[in-house]
Amino acid sequence: MRGSGYDAAVQVMVSPSPATSSPATDYDVVIFGGAFSGSSLGLLLKRARPETRVLIVEKSEVFDRKVGESTSEVAGCFLTRVLGLSHYLSCEHFQKHGLRMWFTTPENDCPNACAEIGPNTQARLPTFQLDRSKLDLHLLEMAEKEGCTVIRPATIKSFELNGAGKNVIVLKHDGETKTLTAGWVADCSGKASLVARQRGIWRKLESHPVHSMWVRFSNVLSLDTHEARTQAPCLKDGPSVARASATNHLMGRGWWSWIIPLSNGDFSAGVTWDERIFTPPSEGPVGERVKQHLTSQPIGKLMFKDAAPTENDARIYKYLPYYSTEVCGDGWILAGDAAGFMDPLYSQGLDYCAHATYAAHKILLKSLNGECVKMALDHHNMIYPQSYQRWYHALYKNKYQYLGDADLMHAAFLMDIATYFIGPVRAVYADADMEYSTMPYNGPGGAIFARFMAFYNRRLEVIARKRLAAGTYGKNNLKHRHLLRMPFEANTKAVRHLLHGMRVWLKVEVETMFVRPIEALPDPAVKTAPPPVMVKA
Ligand SMILES: Cc1cc2nc3c(=O)[nH]c(=O)nc-3n(C[C@H](O)[C@H](O)[C@H](O)COP(=O)(O)OP(=O)(O)OC[C@H]3O[C@@H](n4cnc5c(N)ncnc54)[C@H](O)[C@@H]3O)c2cc1C
Repeated sequence: MRGSGYDAAVQVMVSPSPATSSPATDYDVVIFGGAFSGSSLGLLLKRARPETRVLIVEKSEVFDRKVGESTSEVAGCFLTRVLGLSHYLSCEHFQKHGLRMWFTTPENDCPNACAEIGPNTQARLPTFQLDRSKLDLHLLEMAEKEGCTVIRPATIKSFELNGAGKNVIVLKHDGETKTLTAGWVADCSGKASLVARQRGIWRKLESHPVHSMWVRFSNVLSLDTHEARTQAPCLKDGPSVARASATNHLMGRGWWSWIIPLSNGDFSAGVTWDERIFTPPSEGPVGERVKQHLTSQPIGKLMFKDAAPTENDARIYKYLPYYSTEVCGDGWILAGDAAGFMDPLYSQGLDYCAHATYAAHKILLKSLNGECVKMALDHHNMIYPQSYQRWYHALYKNKYQYLGDADLMHAAFLMDIATYFIGPVRAVYADADMEYSTMPYNGPGGAIFARFMAFYNRRLEVIARKRLAAGTYGKNNLKHRHLLRMPFEANTKAVRHLLHGMRVWLKVEVETMFVRPIEALPDPAVKTAPPPVMVKA
């Protein structure tokens, strides 16, 4: 993989294919970053237009086990139906069966008593718990096998975006600096966001100040083992599906933790928190801090008390959400995390990567086939930020306020997942090509759903503040089990879950009707005016 075919390509200027209107360049498309988004983009381009000269430049020598391990149904559909990886994923990764949430109260230390929300049966549509170091390598190897040129490890050092066919890229490989020309630059460099930062269009989402830290653990006690069931006999009852195959979530006010089983027996675990409400342990190595946090919750303690964090694997990321005010222009396009990231709750990061990557490949194909893409670029620049903002208000804005209340999250769980199945999941299974070519929450239908979701998200947040005022926040966090008898499906069954969620919401709405809420969280995006300066008369 290291530099194969590359030297020949940079030494000999290859003429563009006849269908390409750009002048001679070394490559038709140079992709910055060869992980999930970069490799998928390379594959999609080569499969749709084999003569395209694609170069993937990947910085790392070896992929690490990054986050982005739990797929949701939209990413599952992309991996299985679009990229054709069903067999590979079934053999090499872990089948995921839904999302499970655990709640407790500050006084409780018994795992038997923790309230639980989750599915009763296995999932109906394919989703996976991924080892990203394996998946990303597999995708990059496939991209190379299917005709992309890959150079690795190589770092993009600088670039000039001069318009389609006139881009100049400087990279470092094997200690040497080389200059290339490219028809298009596709930035898939993840949170490095090389193009957005250089163009000054990268923005932090100030109003959502969430952070994350995580590590992989060995020696974790799985919830389905004899030992776990002996220590917490209530685990013998409940769902038919193995609990550990879900992405288990420990929930608290201002934070949530994920617990993801990996195919080698390790578990990935981390905590994400809103700095306005919660502060996790801050002393010692990050792995130990994550463990300290997990074991402060009874289910976490049961699973992680003897667990060992993997050395040199822990990471901490501050201020997760960011976006780019433009995602494409003449001769350049962003895909995956290079365009933006929101929040890992509900595991929709790879969904967005799938959409943005697929949409990018459609625009590039048009251009490479000699069509004018001005309108397509304008349209993509309009729908991406719109989708991002709708997604934010619908699912995440101030949500951390009510994450620790089982009743409120029961309502949100049902409505958030039902709307996901009625909207994005149904759409990608109905027409993958059309749906992945655009962004979620797009069009009039998407706008209506996003508005409805933003409305109930706001209401649940207000009810959380009312419950805090009344001292009833988390009042059903013990000894309640909400198991979904019917799995989520992209059909009318999802509507039934939605109606169920609305009933739970209305119940808590009525119950707190006459309570005055505590004050809302400050919005860090709204800068408070400096105190007035006293001027002596
Ligand atoms: C805490 C957390 C938890 C998450 N959990 C989930 C989850 O459960 N499910 C989910 O779907 N998503 C999740 N995500 C999101 C998911 O991790 C990302 O959306 C996904 O990994 C992005 O993939 P990508 O290929 O776009 O970028 P990346 O995977 O970041 O890849 C970017 C690549 O670019 C390369 N690169 C960078 N700079 C250069 C350079 N100068 N030159 C050459 N190459 C370069 C890097 O080496 C890297 O390989 C999570 C994110 C966070 C922060």
